[in-house]
Amino acid sequence: MNINIPVADAGMIFKRYRSQLKKLGINILGDLLYHLPFRYDDLRIISKIGDLQTGETVTIQGEVIFIDNIFTKRWKKIQKAKIADDTGQIEVAWFNQPFLSKVIHIGDKISIAGKVDYFSGSLTMQSPEYEIIVGGELLHTARLVPVYPETKGISSKWLRRQIYKTLQDNKQNILEFIPESIIKNNHLLPLLEALEKIHFPHLMKDVVDAKKRLAFDELLLIQLAAMKKRKEWECNLNSPIFKIKPFIDKINMLIESLPFTLTKSQKEALEDIFNDMSTSTPMNRLLEGDVGSGKTIVAAIAMYIAKLNGYQSTLMAPTEILAQQHYDMISKLLCNFDVGVELITGNKKINKNKNENKIDILIGTHALLFQNTYIHNIGFVIIDEQQRFGVTQRSTIRKKGVNPHLLSMTATPIPRTIALTLYGDLDLSILNEMPIGRKKIKTWLVPSEKRNKCYSWIEKEIIENNSQTFIICPFIDESESMQTIKAASKEFDRLKKDIFPNLKIGLLHGKMKSKEKDNILNAFRKKEFDILVATPVVEVGIDISNATIMVIEASERFGLSQLHQLRGRVGRGNKQSYCILFTESTSTSTSTRLKAMENMDQGRDLAELDLRMRGSGELFGTMQHGTRQFKIADFSDNSLIQKTKNEAKIIFNNFKQYPYILEKVNRLIINEVSPD
Ligand code: ADP
Ligand code: MG
Repeated sequence: MNINIPVADAGMIFKRYRSQLKKLGINILGDLLYHLPFRYDDLRIISKIGDLQTGETVTIQGEVIFIDNIFTKRWKKIQKAKIADDTGQIEVAWFNQPFLSKVIHIGDKISIAGKVDYFSGSLTMQSPEYEIIVGGELLHTARLVPVYPETKGISSKWLRRQIYKTLQDNKQNILEFIPESIIKNNHLLPLLEALEKIHFPHLMKDVVDAKKRLAFDELLLIQLAAMKKRKEWECNLNSPIFKIKPFIDKINMLIESLPFTLTKSQKEALEDIFNDMSTSTPMNRLLEGDVGSGKTIVAAIAMYIAKLNGYQSTLMAPTEILAQQHYDMISKLLCNFDVGVELITGNKKINKNKNENKIDILIGTHALLFQNTYIHNIGFVIIDEQQRFGVTQRSTIRKKGVNPHLLSMTATPIPRTIALTLYGDLDLSILNEMPIGRKKIKTWLVPSEKRNKCYSWIEKEIIENNSQTFIICPFIDESESMQTIKAASKEFDRLKKDIFPNLKIGLLHGKMKSKEKDNILNAFRKKEFDILVATPVVEVGIDISNATIMVIEASERFGLSQLHQLRGRVGRGNKQSYCILFTESTSTSTSTRLKAMENMDQGRDLAELDLRMRGSGELFGTMQHGTRQFKIADFSDNSLIQKTKNEAKIIFNNFKQYPYILEKVNRLIINEVSPD
């Protein structure tokens, strides 16, 4: 069977579970093989029953001498069995799994693994893993047992069985796509062996070797995909060539009209952008800078150049609030320069009587994607927080123009190694300094014994300095579940009742309707609340300059760049701002990590540190990037990145000779997942 077929076509069992599999990101049969264990339970020790000791986690193997359903007083069913070997017997119990008495029979040879307990006078195992011994390889006991990300209806046990079977049945379909010489030079395992070892290792070293091979593939393919995208981009030779020199005076007038001088890195970014715009190769540049570093001004000046050259520009932002903010700032900046600026969002359409020749800059949300009127010659496209948009959306907005120049912007700091591999097709400009005069946000890591003192200080700041405070509740899980909301509501009640009975407190969470969220944020802006309790996934990308205190609960659960981004929600105005990190953790490594927040104030430095201390998995969480295909490689492994980069260059120059690699690269480009 071809492993590229949809899972639904790969047999009844897959067809039945296809929607659950989809939830795990498994769409084709091959995806199943790349659904990797996140942990291995070590059940390799096989113990004689007579040697068992309380508390140990082991495998025992013996014969079933008893199995039956027992009813408890409350009519629950317990499945009890007795297993014997030549050294003794042990009773094991499962709960509410009546089917067990049908699949386990007296006389069966069975392998059982789990923790040994002591219960009313004898040893027992409760809800152990089990499998009947029929002669094949044991998958669930007596080995390093892989544990997988699960979803409702699909257990690790199910996945183990299906992955094992798929590997067995498809040995000849798992094509080695990396040439022999590269495998040899880099001491890699063959692909099939790597897949077998990552799922069913005999030693932990098997896992290390397998990961190395799969990480190599991943990094190689990502870089080849970036090279290919870049080449295709550059072959697209029809972008408008913008003149810069004739307009230098006008640009300078605009810059002089600003109430401040541009930072050095803003000037450098503009120079990069102007250089890109003055050639027919379309610009494809990423402008990276912390919140508040002044990206919008750079964008506005670049859009002014487009207007002076007779072209329209469009700027797409991920939320209505951000689009509105851009609109306010940009229309104010350009109001005396004869530039027509318009806003389009779900709620705000363009006035019908508008003269379309008067629109030079269109700012908006996703609503821009559906806008066709008023657009006649877009030469420049800007995407704010580019990682929040899918590939299709990004390409749709570009297609509103004819090969427009493209500038992406992000406030998410991306460490160099990641930027170079993941975004190898982009040029990079970085705003690495804050405008002068901006006050550093004072940050304190506060241990639990100082919590109450800290609350008193906050109350004093609010009352005496008329400040406002954000309190970010811990996230229980990433997908803002009911659990997270409950935790936030509970914290909200606690603060209202026990801590700040005299203050006005609001609550904001991601499950609220967007209208409701806007109302609450606006109420906060109007100072109807002193404190806003919010869940971390909530978009607080707004500028509330009076909010000067950011409190983050359970800060140890966040990556440093996440903390930095949350912290960036305060410190907008000219008042001194504060960030308070609460943690109940007592581990020294945690507090060392969090302490870095007190001294470091550059997002990028924090991201680099995060990468070194926690690996890339965490970072991808913050980047909100479609991470599915980047789950093996660790981007702190510079030497592997370098090796794969070198190989990628060689392969890229002779791509025709590597049809299997080319196929994989194309698939990767097509499947680049959209984050929404
Ligand atoms: P970003 O989009 O990078 O978060 P903005 O462009 O919104 O940042 O700028 C944040 C604030 O800083 C705005 O109020 C802006 O007017 C101001 N600002 C931008 N550049 C400078 C500068 N060079 N000097 C002083 N203030 C600046
Ligand atoms: Mg911005």
